[in-house]
Amino acid sequence: MTSKPMTTQIAIMGAAGRMGRALIEACSLTPSVRLSAAIDRSDSTLVGKDAGECSGVWKMAVPVTGSLEEAADFDVLIDFTLPEVTLANLEFCRARGKRMVIGTTGFTPQQRATITAAAEHNAIVLAPNMSVGVNLALKLLEMTTRVLGNAADIDIIDVHHKHKLDAPSGTAIRMGEVIAATLGRELKDVAVYGCQPGRHDERKPGSIGISSIRSGDTVGDHTVLFAGQGERIEITHRATSRLNFARGALRAAEWLMQHESGLFDMQDVLDIK
Ligand code: NAD
Repeated sequence: MTSKPMTTQIAIMGAAGRMGRALIEACSLTPSVRLSAAIDRSDSTLVGKDAGECSGVWKMAVPVTGSLEEAADFDVLIDFTLPEVTLANLEFCRARGKRMVIGTTGFTPQQRATITAAAEHNAIVLAPNMSVGVNLALKLLEMTTRVLGNAADIDIIDVHHKHKLDAPSGTAIRMGEVIAATLGRELKDVAVYGCQPGRHDERKPGSIGISSIRSGDTVGDHTVLFAGQGERIEITHRATSRLNFARGALRAAEWLMQHESGLFDMQDVLDIK
């Protein structure tokens, strides 16, 4: 007798947002998960409406609610909102032993420490970029830095839509951290943000430049330049649709079911550490 495969019950926080809608669509396309709850701000005009219809897919018989307390039970909360909102939800999940996939970006070091402390009791995936391609790119960056890192000038450029609030992107920071760690340095000691107009001093050896562009409806592009003498390597990832982040988040949620506690990232989920 074959056992029925487990269905992971998903709750989506920020259901009315750009990522929330992509997550609802991804749930409708993934047979191994079930959307059990969709939550947004209590004053959202979508509260009470069907989550599937709001996201442009079919009726899913899951109403958008205005708080987690009103939401149906779930296995994993997927949260793509704002740092302070995610922290409040972390408190809720901590008290009830619920797993979380956190896609929100822009946390302060103190907020990250709060998430790390909660992960001693709850299983959490925290990743500024849930895309499988970006996480593969992080691995390529590590390899390239090992070979070229000390001989090249390194710059990270992130391009996102004009509504994105934080800069540099969480992914650009993660890329910087991976490169700096491979060189045995800390990003805070070597990062140079943006190119200041009127800056005439020469580039500091070993610095990592990080620049952000916010324009149009760009979903998310990241390029890392390794510029040496007579040659340059560019590693670029372009996201063309939010579905790639959403599918990565669902993969993380299903993977998380085998863990009771611990803080993980997408490299753990994809087993490419
Ligand atoms: P968005 O503004 O379109 O959506 C955010 C949603 O959160 C909105 O619907 C808003 O109403 C809701 N929200 C705000 N306060 C709330 C509250 N108190 N309770 C419930 N819901 C609340 O933003 P977005 O583009 O979907 O991005 C959301 C976050 O995800 C950002 O931090 C962004 O940088 C990040 N992001 C991460 C990845 C990744 O792969 N990790 C990918 C894309 C975006």
